[in-house]
Amino acid sequence: MRAAGTGPRLLLRRLRELMAEPIGAQERLDKIVVQIAANMVAEVCSVYLLRADGVLELFATEGLNRAAVHQTSLKVGEGLVGLIAAEAHPLNLATARSHPAFAYRPETGEEIYNGFLGVPILRAGRMLGVLVVQNRAHRTYSDEEVEALQTTSMVIAEMIAAGEVEAIAKPGQGLDLRRAMQLGGLALADGVGMGHVVLHEPRVVVTNLIAEDIERERERLHHALDKLRLSLDDMLERREVARDGEHRDVLEAYAMFARDRGWARKMEEAIRNGLTAEAAAEKVQSDTRAQMLRSTDPYIRERLHDLDDLANRLMRELIGRPHQLTAEELPKDAIIVARNMGAAELLDYDRERIRGVILEEGSPTSHVTIVARALGLPMVGQVPTVVSLVEPGDAIIVDGEAGDVQLRPRPDVEKAYGEKVRFRARRQAQYRRLRSKPAITRDGHTVYLHLNAGLLVDMPHLEESGASGIGLFRTELLFMVTEQLPRVREQEQLYSRVLDAAGDRPVNFRSLDIGGDKLLPYLRSVEEENPALGWRAIRLGLDRPALLRTQVRALLRAAAGRELRLMFPMITTVAEYRAARAVVDRELRHARRHGHRSPETIRLGAMIEVPSLLFELDELLDIVDFISVGSNDLFQFMYAADRGNPRLADRFDSLSVPFLRALKMIVERAEAKHVPVSLCGEMAGRPLTAMALLALGFRTISMPPAAIGPVKEMIRALDVGRLRARLLPRLEPGQLSGELRPLLKTFADENEIPV
Ligand code: PEP
Ligand code: MG
Repeated sequence: MRAAGTGPRLLLRRLRELMAEPIGAQERLDKIVVQIAANMVAEVCSVYLLRADGVLELFATEGLNRAAVHQTSLKVGEGLVGLIAAEAHPLNLATARSHPAFAYRPETGEEIYNGFLGVPILRAGRMLGVLVVQNRAHRTYSDEEVEALQTTSMVIAEMIAAGEVEAIAKPGQGLDLRRAMQLGGLALADGVGMGHVVLHEPRVVVTNLIAEDIERERERLHHALDKLRLSLDDMLERREVARDGEHRDVLEAYAMFARDRGWARKMEEAIRNGLTAEAAAEKVQSDTRAQMLRSTDPYIRERLHDLDDLANRLMRELIGRPHQLTAEELPKDAIIVARNMGAAELLDYDRERIRGVILEEGSPTSHVTIVARALGLPMVGQVPTVVSLVEPGDAIIVDGEAGDVQLRPRPDVEKAYGEKVRFRARRQAQYRRLRSKPAITRDGHTVYLHLNAGLLVDMPHLEESGASGIGLFRTELLFMVTEQLPRVREQEQLYSRVLDAAGDRPVNFRSLDIGGDKLLPYLRSVEEENPALGWRAIRLGLDRPALLRTQVRALLRAAAGRELRLMFPMITTVAEYRAARAVVDRELRHARRHGHRSPETIRLGAMIEVPSLLFELDELLDIVDFISVGSNDLFQFMYAADRGNPRLADRFDSLSVPFLRALKMIVERAEAKHVPVSLCGEMAGRPLTAMALLALGFRTISMPPAAIGPVKEMIRALDVGRLRARLLPRLEPGQLSGELRPLLKTFADENEIPV
């Protein structure tokens, strides 16, 4: 029987009326399947919904045996319906029974049907169920029909998302869209944070699904697409991105997608089927996301991610920016969830209100990770698709120790984590008791534990942790939290406060290390193909002397009458160090000329971060007052492995023969020349890697505040002499075994050293 009038638009209109009727969920679903079957001239229409236990249950049918409703079920991957759910892809068959995946369910009476079309019911890429139509005839459905059924499935997705269907599920076998989930990732910053989700980039929420006026919706779509293309072209033409570079590649990919006829056509199709422009954009985005979840090819996933971002931009064009929480609206226990974010963006949040960070990307030595550690924020990275799995306000736990995320935790899980938080607090108290105990190994070697800092909020940690000084003060962090470039006077005040807070403990300032992935919002940056290898740190400081001079001037004034220790980042040649030193000399003369009081002593140093310097080390050691190894950068450059690239995060191990040989050589040469040497990369802050550093000969290491306790505990249990005897032979020439982590772990176990 043919319904009065056909076509998807009419169907959507009917469905909208049905959605508004004051009836129960079962009746509504029953009526929906009748409408769909009639509209698509199918004998059967069925809705299978995915339960929390992973089973697809028949929730409504027109045409199949009614008694099978809430009885028939299939696992994901089982039968044709299960296959659609597993692959998140439509299935269109002229003879269902001859498909190898066909699973016969006698109670349904479906054996007489041949033509079969099933589509996934998706929301934000998430699988909610399967919608099927069937015919006796051996027919293949047209592309338009496939498209129409997909569009229809969105309405059902909305009904499910509204929570209505939950009421008709069997007890204990609900859909539980908001079910508890455990997600695995990479532990980036230690600590356990319990709180509620805040999306770093709030999602656009489409509430108006069904079009009133198709023509108008088409116009809206095209208008928005035009604006989107223009804004992308605009960005591409801007001076900063006029050259090549990664940023430009992404924008070009966006611009290409924005012109992609396939993308526009899919959205047009959805509008023709009766959706509003924004719902059409969302539908196509949802399909993309489903594809993204299935794809294992990192390149394709990346491109699909681009397309996903573009759909967000388009939806923002159509319905405006989603509401960004103001500082006051931020919950007091916010857990920030993002695909990725910059260090400065994290610093923009009110530290008092955040309890943790979860990223889809992120790597152990990227700067956002370093900032999270500096702020004492637990952070887990590399949690795939977490952004689309969470809803703002969801309860969530980030476990930066194990690298786990608990989304919407069940009460028992929450309780267990509460326990864990209390346990950690007790351990912290234990570390605090260690505070006044010296960091001396069992065989009598004193180790100087210094702090890495970069903000004024870090300073109280000095006292709390019992650290003997600031080994690395990353001045650029101070710059990242200001609205504009601080002038001499402001900088002087900041540095003075740092020195005041440190009292008589030494502070090793590092001159501005910007460029690479550390950008200052107010300093125009140049687009570079390889920013990490680009115009950054001291290179920028020497080429733009005003910046470096201002900083040096402020430091000299702040340290008047006391000690100034300053080191330069990314020194690549001895000549560069000389040039940096000359800037200080010049400023010192300038200060004297103007009658400013000078520091009592000035100690200047170089960071060892670029491998070229290892081959000019003796010459450097002759002219520096101290050196500090920036192992994060040294490792990234020695291994040619971008420290911010999540795909490389676990690829090479710093506890390997070549890297430890390099470090050992640095300590030995420095000692031979009586030049103080320290190490301030992330290696210093983990007990196991720190233990290796001690064996190589390092006696001063610098780390985040939370690492002081665990590292000191390790030191007090360690006999360095014994470890040297075990480790050093493995670094001799002719040793083949590259990785030393297992050896160090075994040593720690055997000697009961907590690592
Ligand atoms: C390093 O590179 O190891 C270092 C300490 O400096 P940053 O991490 O700030 O680059
Ligand atoms: Mg560095």
